[in-house]
This record gives sequence, C-alpha cells and structure tokens, in this order.
Amino acid sequence: MIDFNKPVLTGQELEFIQDAFERSHVSGDGYYTRQCQAYLEEQLGVHKVLTTTNCTHALEMAAILADIRAGDEIIVPSFTFVSTVNAFVLRGATPVFIDIRPDTLNLDERLLESMITSRTKVILPVHYAGVGCEMDTILAIAKEHGLIVIEDNAHGLFGKYRGRYLGTFGALATQSFHETKNFSCGEGGALVINDPALIERAEIIREKGTNRSRFFRGMVDKYTWVDIGSSYLPSDILMAVLYAQLNNHQSIQAKRQQMWGRYHAALQGWAANRNIQLPHVPPHCQQSYHMYYILLPHLAARQALMAHLRQRDIISVFHYQPLHLSEMGKKFGAIQGNCPVTESVADNLLRLPFHNSLSEQDQDTVISALLEFTP
Ligand SMILES: *Cc1c(COP(=O)(O)O)cnc(C)c1O
Repeated sequence: MIDFNKPVLTGQELEFIQDAFERSHVSGDGYYTRQCQAYLEEQLGVHKVLTTTNCTHALEMAAILADIRAGDEIIVPSFTFVSTVNAFVLRGATPVFIDIRPDTLNLDERLLESMITSRTKVILPVHYAGVGCEMDTILAIAKEHGLIVIEDNAHGLFGKYRGRYLGTFGALATQSFHETKNFSCGEGGALVINDPALIERAEIIREKGTNRSRFFRGMVDKYTWVDIGSSYLPSDILMAVLYAQLNNHQSIQAKRQQMWGRYHAALQGWAANRNIQLPHVPPHCQQSYHMYYILLPHLAARQALMAHLRQRDIISVFHYQPLHLSEMGKKFGAIQGNCPVTESVADNLLRLPFHNSLSEQDQDTVISALLEFTP
C-alpha cells in the first residue's frame, strides 16, 4: 500500500520528549516551546511567534485580535479548509466568498475590490499548496481600504513571495503542524505576529485571558483575568516533537523539493497530451513543496483515476469542497454560487502521495500507474 500521507520520526523526537520530562515541565511554555518559537522567529525574521494547539486555534486567536464583531465581513476563498472561515464565524463574522485564480488556485486578487463593502474588516489569503498569493496587490488594496490582512499559511511555511517569507506579510499569519503538513507534531500550530502592537494581547488571549506571561517575566506582581481568551498553548511534549522536526528543516524541505520535482518532470508529457493541468508556480514565488496535485479535465476522470490508483494500492485524495455551497456557507455566507473556478477545481483536483518518507521506488510506482491512465 502506498499511503497518501504518513507521520515520520526524523530522529530526535523521542529523545527530546524524554528530555522534556527530565526538565520537569511538560505543560505549556516550557523549554521546547521557547526553542520552537525562537527558531521560527529567527528563520522568518518576525517580531513574535506563539505556538498553539493547532492552526484552527491560531485562526481563532487572530479573529479575536482583529476584534471581529457581529456583521463584520471577511473576504475569504471558498476553496479552503473549514477552519479558515469557522474561526471568524465563531466571532460573528459574515464570510464573503471569493473565487480563486485558475493557475495558482489562490484567492483571485482581481476580484477583491468589487467585494469590499463598508463592513469589510479582514482579507484572508490562503497560500494554497504553499505558493504565494499576489501579496503586492492584496496589501495595496488592504491599505487603501484600511483592512487587516491575515494569512492562513498552513501550507506555506518557508515558502516565499518575491523573496520574502510567506506568513510575514499580514498583521497576523497562522501555521499548522498537523500530521499532514511539512513539519508536524501530530496536532499543532502557531500564530505569527507581524504587528508588534498585537503581541501583548495575543499572549493574554493564549493564556486564558490572563496576564500570566507578563507575571512570569516579572512585569506585573500578580496575574489576573484581564481579557477574553482560552487555553491555546500546546504541551511541551508536542513542542519537543516539533523542535526535532524543525531541526531537520533543511533535509525535510530538500526531500520534498526533490519529490515534487520528480513528479513534475515525469508527468509533463502525459499531462499535456491528456488535457491534465499540473501545478503552476509563478517565477516570483518560491513554493514550500507542501503537496503535488493534478487537475483532471472533469469529475468523472478524477474519480476514474482515483479508482485506477486504488486498484494498484495507491491512495490519492481530493481536496476542499466549495465552502459557499456547504450547509454552513449557505447559511452564513454573503454571496452564493458565484465561484465557478472553485467549483470546477473541487471536482477535478487530485493530490498524489506526498510525505517525508515516500521512497523513490514507491514514487516510481505511482508515476507508472499514472502514465498507464488516459481519462
Ligand atoms: C491544515 C489546515 C488548517 C487547519 O490546521 P489544524 O492545525 O489542523 O487546525 C487550516 N487552514 C488550512 C489551509 C489548512 O490546510
């Protein structure tokens, strides 16, 4: 069986977990949390990174920090994970679903201006497959209209747009360390805080609405309830796992780059002759090698290819179903049924096996199976 995804130990995970116990601190904000946060801050060159229990919770923190109130509108792609939207709906926001570009499958920035109203508060770009959204245009429009940009960068850690790291453009950005992402501790996430004015409140929201972080730094003489919040900090056991993975940053990314390149080279001719679209990475984007997907000409072809691979013990998976057509999207969304590219991509996209321990031999088996297939 060739799995779509597989959790992988990179070396020091178990040793670091043991060490966390020896340090007698396995709840939140221990040694490994500080190591992960410092590593990400240094690598990305950002003011502050706070690790969280998952990316969904980082998005919930972002919605609180953006002061989302009932009726505020957020502009968000319909082609994304539920959490990108749900975190804001929890605070009363109305999602305004925007369509995606047919080439990168990212929010179509050419449609942005037409969707802005007096109630718009946030633009939420999602860097699909770790290929950057058109941030120059998005930031310019946000600035002109006084909107907050929050990047859902769950796919894009260490990807770049015009030489600058994804996750460093918006006031806030969110990361995921879920099992399916490039770096994983099972369930985990981070909030990247690029606007220094939001740091103190972010620490409070993450610590149950208390000023506990300031207390531990000796900045206040007692800690108390000062704001709304929840418990968004991960156990140091998980951060020990994540730190081991981050320590293998270069080798993990090199492996994924090579895997991506092998699929891309092997499938060019096959795809071109069968009206199959391969991923497009604009020259000014340095992708994060999060996934390899292909776009079939129609739904029946996608389903046939999935079955063809399954017969050969190869697991491939489709991806997001349009949120504007979901039960909740219809109930809460401001516009409905106007995202034709999203609807077509949801039907036609297939993700191929892609994980840190996929062998070249298994990848060759996948490639051979694909080359045998004609829609
Ligand atoms: C994985 C993912 C999330 C959610 O991440 P969790 O860590 O599982 O909460 C959010 N947005 C996108 C785009 C994702 O791919």
